[in-house]
Amino acid sequence: MDSLSCPQCGGRNVGKVGTGQFYCWDCYIEFSVSHRGIRMYTVEADGELTRIESAVSAKEVLS
Ligand SMILES: [Zn+2]
Repeated sequence: MDSLSCPQCGGRNVGKVGTGQFYCWDCYIEFSVSHRGIRMYTVEADGELTRIESAVSAKEVLS
């Protein structure tokens, strides 16, 4: 789980921010990984998370 790549940009500049939650320093999105798949969020200026609809599967990111 330490070698994740970003589901949006494919970058490796990803940091862990919580249990199953990660942040991409390249495209500034937060994403969570679970057995149900990937959820991506943009972080608003006020700290609010906005869901990004995505068809990316956990399988693709974790491979
Ligand atoms: Zn990214």
